[in-house]
Amino acid sequence: MRGRFAPSPTGVLHVGNLRTALLAWLFARSPGSSFLVRVEDLDVGRVRPGFAERQLADMALLGLDWDGEVVWQSARTGLYEDALSALPVYECFCTRAEIAEAASAAHGPVGAYPGTCRGLSVAERDARRVERAPALRVDAGGAVVSFVDRVLGSQSGFVDDFVVRRNDGAFAYNLAVVVDDGAQGIEEVVRGADLVDSTPRQIWLGRALGLPELSYAHVPLVLGPDGRRLAKRHGDVTLRDVPADAALAWMAASLGLSGSTPRELLAGFDAASVSREPTTFDGVR
Ligand code: GLU
Repeated sequence: MRGRFAPSPTGVLHVGNLRTALLAWLFARSPGSSFLVRVEDLDVGRVRPGFAERQLADMALLGLDWDGEVVWQSARTGLYEDALSALPVYECFCTRAEIAEAASAAHGPVGAYPGTCRGLSVAERDARRVERAPALRVDAGGAVVSFVDRVLGSQSGFVDDFVVRRNDGAFAYNLAVVVDDGAQGIEEVVRGADLVDSTPRQIWLGRALGLPELSYAHVPLVLGPDGRRLAKRHGDVTLRDVPADAALAWMAASLGLSGSTPRELLAGFDAASVSREPTTFDGVR
């Protein structure tokens, strides 16, 4: 099934991110499918120049190859605009603080938007717009979406009225990812388990846009020796500090595979036996 890796160029990829990239590559390549790379550079406040190129270089250094040209989301805003016009959306003027307050009063699912702005009249919206640019939210109608993840098993989640365009005008991650996976003919999404909570929203969006259903595999995160999600503060965690062959050897061992190139790992790879448990990285020897 055609797969992809879609990093956001907001930092250097560490061995945890690269292990996820390797897994996405193995899931796609083991049945002989294509593997695409997409740079998710829409969040101008967080994207830093040069990082995307470093991320691509580090993937190549590890021995991961991809098909076709790398796609950059910043060049595709027309596609997101078109998708937006096909969705049921409403303007939202809430600040973060207002949402947190209203959500706790409504006793809804944690983090869910309580629908405060859904019923605003035209006059109310006109008045609010003078003070604050609106974000756009979909009207998801309180849907609950279930799916079977290839690694994590059965999953289910409430779909709140999530943001599809932010109040600074940027298209939101959930919208862009769904539009691009559809446009690029992606069949299977393999990514870190930290994104599993976004999946019900993305499935809902894919259905609303009439896109084919995708298969999902959320792979466990890599932790540092302190049991927290691996990060720069854990020290030598990128290919600046760890030689690529040693990093790959650690990844292979963590997956119970042998071989010294991604191609060699393919022979022993079985998607069905990827563990649901996180792995700890405490350096390479
Ligand atoms: N760009 C997202 C990230 O780096 C991942 C998107 C995805 O795989 O769906 O967190």
